[in-house]
Amino acid sequence: MSADVIVSGAGPVGLLTAALLDSAGVKVEVLERLTERSTNSRAAVMHPRTLEVLPTVRTGYGRRLTDILLSYGRAVPRTHFGMLPQLLDYSELDTPYPHILQITQATTERVLASLVEARGIPVHYGQEVTGFERDDTVVRVQGGDTVRTARYLVGAAGAWSPVRQQAGIEFPGTPGSTVSFLADAELDAAPQNATHVWDHETGWVGVVPLFDGIHRVFGVLPEDTGLTPEQVTARRSRPLTLEDLRGILKRVAGTDYGLRNAVWISTAGNTIRHATRYRANRVLVAGDAAHVHFPAGDQGVNVGMQDAVNLAWKLAAEVKGRATPLITGGAASYDRERRPVAESLAQNTQAQTALTTTFTPQGSALRELMSTLLTRPEANARLAGLLSGLSVSYTPPMRATRWTGPAHQT
Ligand SMILES: Cc1cc2nc3c(=O)[nH]c(=O)nc-3n(C[C@H](O)[C@H](O)[C@H](O)COP(=O)(O)OP(=O)(O)OC[C@H]3O[C@@H](n4cnc5c(N)ncnc54)[C@H](O)[C@@H]3O)c2cc1C
Repeated sequence: MSADVIVSGAGPVGLLTAALLDSAGVKVEVLERLTERSTNSRAAVMHPRTLEVLPTVRTGYGRRLTDILLSYGRAVPRTHFGMLPQLLDYSELDTPYPHILQITQATTERVLASLVEARGIPVHYGQEVTGFERDDTVVRVQGGDTVRTARYLVGAAGAWSPVRQQAGIEFPGTPGSTVSFLADAELDAAPQNATHVWDHETGWVGVVPLFDGIHRVFGVLPEDTGLTPEQVTARRSRPLTLEDLRGILKRVAGTDYGLRNAVWISTAGNTIRHATRYRANRVLVAGDAAHVHFPAGDQGVNVGMQDAVNLAWKLAAEVKGRATPLITGGAASYDRERRPVAESLAQNTQAQTALTTTFTPQGSALRELMSTLLTRPEANARLAGLLSGLSVSYTPPMRATRWTGPAHQT
């Protein structure tokens, strides 16, 4: 047996899952398709609940993982919901981290990769998982030219996860109808702070400072909404140039902010898909392999990393023969606890998509109304609870409340 658990995919979710399993004494290996770690940043924000659950990871450097991430990021007490003018205020949230942490996904992955390396966990780059076979006791995983065996396989290889597909886990959802643009670039005339412009005739643009003089520029144009799936594919296969982006910025914001030297230009769609189950026998899925949605509110990587935290201790208990049926198949199981979180994620990202891309006078009126409502503390608390992840709580299994209290949090 190569390992107790093989993880497919060395993205943030796969790396965190591997680190957590290893720290629980489980022998784990990671297989990654790319020949080296990606340096592109997609996610740029970590929310309070992610920062709360990560201290359970022992780094071995005498520092908690959250503290290491905090040292590389920037704490900001306000964020947005649906790009509304009235921002969400996290400063009153009941958490040690009443703020978002601006941190690029590339930095998060670098920190996680060093942790995995320091723990001596094998990560096999250039080993694409193409299939597996399983029986009652073992999974044989084809990674590159090699077949490795393990007791369990975790699919954390993103939306196109072959593991999910071969495990027969369905991934139903709604095809995308909107295409957003995004670029990480230098700006000669950057706005002082994060800013956004929304206009029902021209579209919306957001600008957020990242690090080392790089800004994230993103948004949607009215003509890139209400598309058929074929139009989405055609639109996304057309390369977006720096010149295109300058034109878009001038049109929507009245300035191109001196955009130059893009380190990354991409597009994102609003396809929503959710795995019908997170486990099929000895195979489990997590992160984007289990749920995809429009990148609204910076939530994808957060929910994925929280999946990893929930999954890892339960799988470790099962590997060690210590898991009770309540954990492996009962009310506290990984699937039962995490699937409702992704359902809620899909719902709030759809609401945010409607708020950001309804380019009509009615859409404009809705935004104004919602913005006014957000000045009320109870509305702020409700939406901040959703985005921050702090409204997540799990129902304890029957008879467990004696020990756990009304809810527990990992
Ligand atoms: C354009 C864009 C912008 C985004 N912006 C944000 C944002 O602002 N905030 C936010 O929270 N989220 C954002 N997201 C979503 C976020 O990036 C994802 O939720 C996050 O990366 C999921 O992590 P993961 O580890 O599940 O998957 P991934 O990050 O996709 O990692 C999967 C890994 O598996 C590897 N892999 C793939 N196939 C195989 C295979 N067959 N065998 C082995 N390895 C394989 C891949 O190379 C990759 O390294 C954005 C996504 C996109 C596309």
